[in-house]
Amino acid sequence: MNLTLIGTGYVGLVTGTCFAEVGHRVICVDNDAAKVKTLQAGGIPIYEPGLEELVRKNTAAGRLSFTTSTAEGVGNSDIIFIAVPTPPQDDGSVDLSFIEKVAREIAGAMTIYKIVVDKSTVPVKTGDKVAETIKRYCKAKVEFDVVSNPEFLREGFAVEDLMKPDRIVIGVKSQRPVPALKEVYAPFKAPLIVTDINSAELIKHASNSFLALKISYINAISVLCEATGANVQEVAHGMGMDDRIGKRFLNASLGFGGSCFPKDLSAFIKIAEQVGYDFGLLKEVQKINSEQMNRFIKKIVETLWVLKDKKIGVLGLAFKQNTDDVRMSPAIELCHRLQKEGATLNVYDPKAMDKARAVLNNVTFVQDMNAVAEGCDAIVIATEWEEFKKLDLEKVRKSLTHPIMFDGRNLFDPAEMERLGFIYKSVGR
Ligand code: NAD
Repeated sequence: MNLTLIGTGYVGLVTGTCFAEVGHRVICVDNDAAKVKTLQAGGIPIYEPGLEELVRKNTAAGRLSFTTSTAEGVGNSDIIFIAVPTPPQDDGSVDLSFIEKVAREIAGAMTIYKIVVDKSTVPVKTGDKVAETIKRYCKAKVEFDVVSNPEFLREGFAVEDLMKPDRIVIGVKSQRPVPALKEVYAPFKAPLIVTDINSAELIKHASNSFLALKISYINAISVLCEATGANVQEVAHGMGMDDRIGKRFLNASLGFGGSCFPKDLSAFIKIAEQVGYDFGLLKEVQKINSEQMNRFIKKIVETLWVLKDKKIGVLGLAFKQNTDDVRMSPAIELCHRLQKEGATLNVYDPKAMDKARAVLNNVTFVQDMNAVAEGCDAIVIATEWEEFKKLDLEKVRKSLTHPIMFDGRNLFDPAEMERLGFIYKSVGR
């Protein structure tokens, strides 16, 4: 099929590439001319495992192309997917101006029937607004359908998630676009849920808020574990063995971040407020999350006493492993907070250093994880990169002025760290 993705970021680029990989012809549109130029020249603007190879392969095969022209995308496709940002505003509600602008651009370029699919995460009832906008701005008065198709990919595993999704959600007002969407997704062999647009939009916010809730739940348990001498990993293991609970998203840490969970939580709280429901449960999820970071910082300050003139090595800048994304990264917040306390920082991340340069000032970017602790008073683990588990602990211990490690991701065994001579402080253990 001929498909267009408008917005070629973490969602648009990976989705477009995976659509091309299963045989569709895909045009990826972005209004960032520099990004399109990079992609046209064979470069990849983001880090996502397995993506580069697929982009190269499908571009070479003529199934994947890049442009800045929405009209070109709309004119050459049956189905147009919207994957532009939906950032938070100061009051927590969603800034829908990107979606509205794209709806107007699509409307202006439509001359025959099109299916317009929203993949961005949007508040319930946005589909109605998109349809209204297209109708108003489409001079040709052609027929069209608006569909909600929320995306559930995880950064760091996006290719895998798109090629093998748990489910595909399609929200429609009429049955007319359903066969075409079934054809788009048939190669992925995943369960397809066809529902109404409002339910589809709610499924996305409800899912992300639930996952954030699960993280805050185990983080709250970690506080009880620290107070009682229990081990949060043992508790999570015992809980997770119960099928009704499940093992995933039960890792206690310094808190969640990223471009989705914090903004989607705030948006869902706001959406509830707008329909007259006080979603106190989710407000508590937010509160637990920020307290978790506060507690971690407090641990560092209590141990090192005064941070002024102290040097700290920070491992991890991305908001989680396997990505270069630092948007709302807890690791970046941690760096800012430590700097505010007066500490100077050595930092390292396997993939996110370039993006971190835009948000971190006055830090030393170190090119080797085993050198980050050089001359430092302590080392902090802020992102759960697998490779940090292979840290040369002997070298790190010797290069620290004091062998102190704060582990915000529980990567090491406390007893083993003690045996190696570290003062080791982790979360909930
Ligand atoms: P992103 O910032 O990585 O990419 C968005 C792209 O859209 C950018 O490249 C931007 O230049 C482009 N853009 C903005 N306005 C445009 C316009 N008028 N025309 C063409 N291009 C335009 O964002 P993302 O992370 O891909 O997120 C996109 C949406 O998907 C958001 O609603 C987000 O909540 C949702 N989502 C994200 C993830 C994730 O893990 N990143 C997962 C599921 C859903």
